[in-house]
Amino acid sequence: MESRREKNLMAEEESDGLIAARRIQRLSLHISPSLTPPPLLQPETCSARSKKLDVDGQALSLYMRGKHMDIQEKIFDFYNSRPDLQTPIEISKDDHRELCMNQLLGLVREAGIRPFRYVADDPEKYFAIMEAVGSVDMSLGIKMGVQYSLWGGSVINLGTKKHRDKYFDGIDNLDYTGCFAMTELHHGSNVQGLQTTATFDPLKDEFVIDTPHDGAIKWWIGNAAVHGKFATVFARLILPTHDSKGVSDMGVHAFIVPIRDMKTHQTLPGVEIQDCGHKVGLNGVDNGALRFRSVRIPRDNLLNRFGDVSRDGTYTSSLPTINKRFGATLGELVGGRVGLAYASVGVLKISATIAIRYSLLRQQFGPPKQPEVSILDYQSQQHKLMPMLASTYAYHFATLYLVEKYSEMKKTHDEQLVADVHALSAGLKSYITSYTAKALSVCREACGGHGYAAVNRFGSLRNDHDIFQTFEGDNTVLLQQVAADLLKRYKEKFQGGTLTVTWSYLRESMNTYLSQPNPVTARWEGEDHLRDPKFQLDAFRYRTSRLLQNVAARLQKHSKTLGGFGAWNRCLNHLLTLAESHIETVILAKFIEAVKNCPDPSARAALKLVCDLYALDRIWKDIGTYRNVDYVAPNKAKAIHKLTEYLSFQVRNVAKELVDAFELPDHVTRAPIAMQSDAYSQYTQVVGF
Ligand SMILES: Cc1cc2nc3c(=O)[nH]c(=O)nc-3n(C[C@H](O)[C@H](O)[C@H](O)COP(=O)(O)OP(=O)(O)OC[C@H]3O[C@@H](n4cnc5c(N)ncnc54)[C@H](O)[C@@H]3O)c2cc1C
Repeated sequence: MESRREKNLMAEEESDGLIAARRIQRLSLHISPSLTPPPLLQPETCSARSKKLDVDGQALSLYMRGKHMDIQEKIFDFYNSRPDLQTPIEISKDDHRELCMNQLLGLVREAGIRPFRYVADDPEKYFAIMEAVGSVDMSLGIKMGVQYSLWGGSVINLGTKKHRDKYFDGIDNLDYTGCFAMTELHHGSNVQGLQTTATFDPLKDEFVIDTPHDGAIKWWIGNAAVHGKFATVFARLILPTHDSKGVSDMGVHAFIVPIRDMKTHQTLPGVEIQDCGHKVGLNGVDNGALRFRSVRIPRDNLLNRFGDVSRDGTYTSSLPTINKRFGATLGELVGGRVGLAYASVGVLKISATIAIRYSLLRQQFGPPKQPEVSILDYQSQQHKLMPMLASTYAYHFATLYLVEKYSEMKKTHDEQLVADVHALSAGLKSYITSYTAKALSVCREACGGHGYAAVNRFGSLRNDHDIFQTFEGDNTVLLQQVAADLLKRYKEKFQGGTLTVTWSYLRESMNTYLSQPNPVTARWEGEDHLRDPKFQLDAFRYRTSRLLQNVAARLQKHSKTLGGFGAWNRCLNHLLTLAESHIETVILAKFIEAVKNCPDPSARAALKLVCDLYALDRIWKDIGTYRNVDYVAPNKAKAIHKLTEYLSFQVRNVAKELVDAFELPDHVTRAPIAMQSDAYSQYTQVVGF
């Protein structure tokens, strides 16, 4: 008879054998590209309902893939074939800047991809290119954005035919490298407060560009420190007048100012350039400071689409006020924001994929005498990563919608669409980039110590992406624009105005959603009800409508004593919550629509699962708001929580298929070739990346 000790030993050996087999199986996953997660730990609470959804991965990725996968693949193939154009982990600032310029030159002159051609005519393709190059090196994505979307975009969108004719080819082929010089040392978010001046000299038919004091030095200007030859400079247009004042300030306008010699690349007379130095991230982009001392440019260099100056100094514009012209000028620049929202989803896809794949393979602890389990089987890990995966899907569809609307706006110039896209791009840019910035830290932590190794990318992704929250409009400032727009439309509604598509729910909302929460539905807790898109969307809309109605009343009350500015500041946090709530509502509405439109039943079921998780997780995170007004009774709140956990578990079961559907190329989610060494490839096998 075997002794208890012998039995234990045999069990241990068996268990060691099992562990060894599991480890061999895991290592083999690195050789074979397909990723099969180890058997799952079935949490007891879910075991009765834990049937795995059957997902047709191919159908799902077909639905997810953008229209422009071909050009993205061409980009990946190009950089994969050129290890010399891949960014190593350790690189000095100066080398990184040179490499980044060479990466861009390679794209345009060797791979033959001409992003500028799509900026105006096919923005969807342009953003797809930006996403792909950004995944090669985020500095490259931003450098490309500075050249084509900011410098090039300002020339073609704020200028007229003469500018397009003169500059298009040079910008396109990178002969005319340029900058977008808006921000000053003392004024970033407050663009109307800029101090640089452009004074018209009627004798010489020129503008004179001046930096009146140190605070007006252009700061943070991408491409300025090393590579730029031109800058679009935003400056106050000053015209001589015959009255006692002698001059008239016509507000901020944009001017093309050459900053370096075309042949020698020397800085031109009157221009002073400083380097902004080493940054937290994006060190492949050469940010610099520009100071102008009576720099003369021809009158033609005024980008004159919204306002012009004739030979005799007369100002003309189709728009009646400085504010309208300023609005139109900034309105033309929303493309940068659209690009950042889109690119931020790309970063979220990368980091969620790395963290989830790692969590599927990594094993720690387990029941006694049994193999260790995947760390994704821990409820806490699911809680960190599964709602994030659901959000990634949600933002994917929301930004596709934004890009579609933006393209439509570029074609039609429809006034309402312009306003809609302006607020939507501000809202999505700020909401998504803030989310991604936080998610990057969560993903790093989810990969434990190995997430901290530079080869595994979280450090560079986090550092490079962080500034997405600030440039192209600080997120807190942008959310206020969304809130202001909502309030404007709220007012218009009561004055019989029209509402654009994205906002149209407000029309019904005030009557439907704000009628007292229904005490009967507040108690419904069945799964069918909680997973009904109508319940989910109603809940989001109710919250937004309520926040809007309350803040409108608060603003009215406070403005009597504090004035407009003071009242706004008194209600600022409330306004930011309102803006976020509205953006979440738009995101959910677009997600629900995307689920409905998915033609393949299996892919649709997978999308419905993540959509439900996105909606219920958001409701649960804000459950206090819903409970406070009894929109949700206590038993329903509990049911929402339980269902959210269950859905997280269900999503975990198909997490591999869900991340595979992003179809990210290997070099994006694993270390790029240039980072790999023998030690590295052994290392990845050991830790599971
Ligand atoms: C790497 C990098 C690249 C850049 N590239 C360019 C470029 O190529 N061209 C260019 O023109 N600019 C560029 N910028 C500048 C960038 O656009 C500005 O930094 C941005 O607009 C924010 O302005 P600011 O830095 O002055 O911040 P501020 O506006 O001073 O904001 C500072 C803080 O104050 C808060 N705040 C400000 N106003 C309000 C308000 N009304 N309500 C509540 N809170 C408020 C903000 O939320 C923020 O937290 C770049 C910046 C960086 C760092």
